[in-house]
Amino acid sequence: MKRLKVIGLTGGIGSGKSTVCGLLAEHHAAIIDTDQIAREVVQPHSEGLRQVIAEFGQDYLTEQGELDRAKLRATIFADPTQKQRLEAILHPLIRQTMLAEIETCQQRWQQGEPIAAIVVAIPLLVETLQGEKPDYLDEIWVVDCDEATQLTRASQRDGQTAAQIQAIIQQQASRQQRLHWADRIIDNNGDQQALQQQLSEHLPEWFMFDNAA
Ligand code: ATP
Repeated sequence: MKRLKVIGLTGGIGSGKSTVCGLLAEHHAAIIDTDQIAREVVQPHSEGLRQVIAEFGQDYLTEQGELDRAKLRATIFADPTQKQRLEAILHPLIRQTMLAEIETCQQRWQQGEPIAAIVVAIPLLVETLQGEKPDYLDEIWVVDCDEATQLTRASQRDGQTAAQIQAIIQQQASRQQRLHWADRIIDNNGDQQALQQQLSEHLPEWFMFDNAA
């Protein structure tokens, strides 16, 4: 059966992933945001929250019954083993939800909805690859800009210092590592208008998918 192309969109902090997703949506892509899914899987009363609390303890619940993200973030930042314990719970849940959302988009398209492609935004895609492109993705698209631009845009947006953003950049995959995996590179060194023009020019070709098999 014919299906839509599934694109994994990635890029470093402040590279412009959200901005690009907004523009891709205007070009009729269906956007699946894995950051949003990561929040949804630990909503109050969810199976994810139940598992996290069973593993880490009641101390990680706020008085409102929500996950105390700041406390959990501090715990996993200080201890990689704890980070692994958390990821062992969350990653399968996020993956399951993401695959279900991809399938829903495919079905909506097969029923006639005008969707051009499915774009899954995965900020840490390259960091979590295990030597090969995940089988649920047809292509990897990288939003790319130089580090100085990343620093300026991210610190202006978040009100953080250049040093704070730099520390995050150091923890992420390098620009070269990301570009190594790129089937398409979206160049976001220019202004918003240049970005729009680039996408308008290339998307008709980039969204095409020969899937007659
Ligand atoms: P993060 O991973 O940190 O969430 P991101 O990759 O989603 O970031 P955006 O939030 O899209 O990046 O962009 C970072 C900031 O840079 C935003 O304030 C956005 O408006 C701005 N920005 C993005 N692209 C451009 C551009 N071409 N020209 C000027 N500003 C831009």
